[in-house]
Amino acid sequence: MPEVPSDFAEATRRAEELRREIEHHNRLYYGLDAPELSDAAYDSLMRELLALEEAFPDLVTPESPTQRVGGAVESAFAAVTHAARMYSLDNAMDLEELDVWLGRIRRDLGDRDCEFVAELKIDGSSIAVTYEDGLLLRAATRGDGRVGEDVTANMRTVRDLPLRLSESAWERLPSVAPRQSPLFAESGEGPDGRQIELRGEVYMPKASFERLNAEQDEAGQPPFANPRNAAAGSLRQKNPQVTASRDLATFMYGVAEPRALGFARQSELLAWLREAGLHVNPDVVECASAADVHEYCAHALEKRDQLPYEIDGVVVKVDSFALQEELGYTSKAPRWAIAYKFPPEEKTTKLLDILVSVGRTGVLTPFAVFEPVLVAGSTI
Ligand code: NAD
Repeated sequence: MPEVPSDFAEATRRAEELRREIEHHNRLYYGLDAPELSDAAYDSLMRELLALEEAFPDLVTPESPTQRVGGAVESAFAAVTHAARMYSLDNAMDLEELDVWLGRIRRDLGDRDCEFVAELKIDGSSIAVTYEDGLLLRAATRGDGRVGEDVTANMRTVRDLPLRLSESAWERLPSVAPRQSPLFAESGEGPDGRQIELRGEVYMPKASFERLNAEQDEAGQPPFANPRNAAAGSLRQKNPQVTASRDLATFMYGVAEPRALGFARQSELLAWLREAGLHVNPDVVECASAADVHEYCAHALEKRDQLPYEIDGVVVKVDSFALQEELGYTSKAPRWAIAYKFPPEEKTTKLLDILVSVGRTGVLTPFAVFEPVLVAGSTI
């Protein structure tokens, strides 16, 4: 746990400083897709702020980045109100924190039976895709969680996203009522047909990312920091032809209001998404115990380097939608899911040269030049 000052005034000063810093990095990351900090460094700022707010609850404000989904809504895109809020995820930085979360779920459910689904945490950009009467109608970024950006034209160029869902799956859909969310009543949009808003991740495969950065280099353009930012940047292009040239792909894993649609469990929903022709990650496991969850996390960590796409952890979800509803949400994340984040990655690279720079005052500073290497999704 980060150190927390015992003095309220000092804690207030530090919290303000952290908020300013985090908001600055949020703008770079979500707005410009060009982060300056590693995710681990960003997460440690966020953890420090969380620790301060926990020690001094009076410091918590609704505007604090700990209480809000950090995203951008650019006016270059039309605004889309999501059928249900899109949340972030709380993090467990190690297996102990994961166990604390598992223990809390068991306690909150009063020792009722609870199964989990463990999925890979795809390091891409969140997407909401709406189908109407089985046809792709609209796609939107997460934005601030309530309102996202309309990126339909761009998502239409993503080859693995079907423009039409399989008829048999659509017909087997337990129950689709037209736009039931009160949010739609507010926006005044009438229901045209039967709609379903799916959730997933848009990502850029590692090989495509390397290729894109080589092309950027040739064209004298700055490289993307990592596949996640390349995916988010490619998705938020004003010209869909640019997106089309970027080789994006999807993994779908969710739906807004699953209970209203008649789904009982996450595992059942994933099977339906597959049947509907959507791309669902094959590496999903149902877990009955904490030991099963640990085993999956170890498996994911081992497999990470061999996967053709980046993952930054594991998402563990309560399988039953009824129990999910009971557990509910904080202002930022579901209580029924957690992201177990992988420990910082170590990689070996080649020392290419040792050079010496000469400062203004003639001071000589030697520095090393290494072969660039992809570490935890970023080229260092
Ligand atoms: P997050 O990326 O940690 O987790 C939430 C997201 O995980 C969801 O919105 C969803 O898009 C995604 N996800 C991937 N696979 C999933 C699956 N199988 N099931 C459900 N969701 C899945 O949270 P966030 O709010 O998007 O971003 C916060 C994180 O972003 C930080 O922890 C940090 O790592 C990074 N960040 C970095 C900087 C920086 O400057 N480096 C700045 C801001 C944020």
